[in-house]
Amino acid sequence: MISVDLRSDTLTRPTAAMLKAMMQAPVGDDVFAEDPSVLALEEKAAALFGLEAGLFCPSGTMTNQIAIKAHTEPLSEVICDISAHVYQYEVGGIAFHSGASVALLQGIRGKFTPDMVAAAIRTDNIHNPITRLVVLENTSNKGGGTFYTLPEIAAIAGVCRQHQLAFHLDGARVFNALTASGESPREYGSYFDSISVCLSKGLGAPVGSVLLGSQAFIRKCRRIRKVMGGGMRQAGYLAAAGSYALEHHVARLGEDHARARQLEAALLQCPYVEQVLPVATNIVIFHLVAELSTSRFLEALRDKGILALEFGPQQIRLVTHLNISQEMADYTARVLRELSF
Ligand SMILES: *Cc1c(COP(=O)(O)O)cnc(C)c1O
Repeated sequence: MISVDLRSDTLTRPTAAMLKAMMQAPVGDDVFAEDPSVLALEEKAAALFGLEAGLFCPSGTMTNQIAIKAHTEPLSEVICDISAHVYQYEVGGIAFHSGASVALLQGIRGKFTPDMVAAAIRTDNIHNPITRLVVLENTSNKGGGTFYTLPEIAAIAGVCRQHQLAFHLDGARVFNALTASGESPREYGSYFDSISVCLSKGLGAPVGSVLLGSQAFIRKCRRIRKVMGGGMRQAGYLAAAGSYALEHHVARLGEDHARARQLEAALLQCPYVEQVLPVATNIVIFHLVAELSTSRFLEALRDKGILALEFGPQQIRLVTHLNISQEMADYTARVLRELSF
């Protein structure tokens, strides 16, 4: 029986070629800013997105939280969607690290509009926190892989500029968004003040995210990374995996999207499925009928060698990624169609 792990795209393992690139990486002490492989990754990623500088960090949680801390101060407020990773899945870090409050937008599948941002900006009143930052997530994880196009981003950036708000992108899966929209990352830098990109999701690196912004912003962030304990030494071995991922694993993301649509098509034929959120990228979210518990469904899948994730009441998430082959997608689609409860 083959084993198919669809719980998350963080489960990817480095390929033999990636491991080889890691082993051959020239390294130095990155806290001294002397690791050539880290510097190369930071430069490469910044140039790709049309920004000046980059900062390699252990996780996407750290890049997001560093950016939020750099853009805000206590008594200020961050605007984001209610489903945002920075709010839901980062342990309340906005309060912990930044002492800032959060204004939550009720977007649709993780996506909000310029009008919603404008309406959430606080007036200048002594009772209010000061609105400083807007965080946008592209693609939206909890939204089920939905993505914003550049014109949608530009419109929200316009509101930020008009009100002198900083604009941060949680781009954990930004390359999935760019693959689906057919857009280039180059223009992103003209809309966002900072961008976080995960290398350890669908791109297949074992560890790491990179934070991008202006030279001055990244200099400030380097100090915040240090106080959070994120200053790594010979991190070039890990950064080399990130560079390898940017070079070799971006062009193939369309395969993951096609396989996610294949699973969606199978689920639409299943009588035990109440609803499938239309698939936009590599994430499939669906609801089971009320009579079937998530634990019973997950157990039946596990018996067939397939792992999926409970994502809410009656809700299941499947994520396609680098280590899900066409054979695995075919097998999973067949199992989903054949299951009966
Ligand atoms: C995974 C993820 C992150 C970062 O997660 P880490 O596990 O800390 O690297 C940030 N934002 C989104 C939307 C994510 O899916």
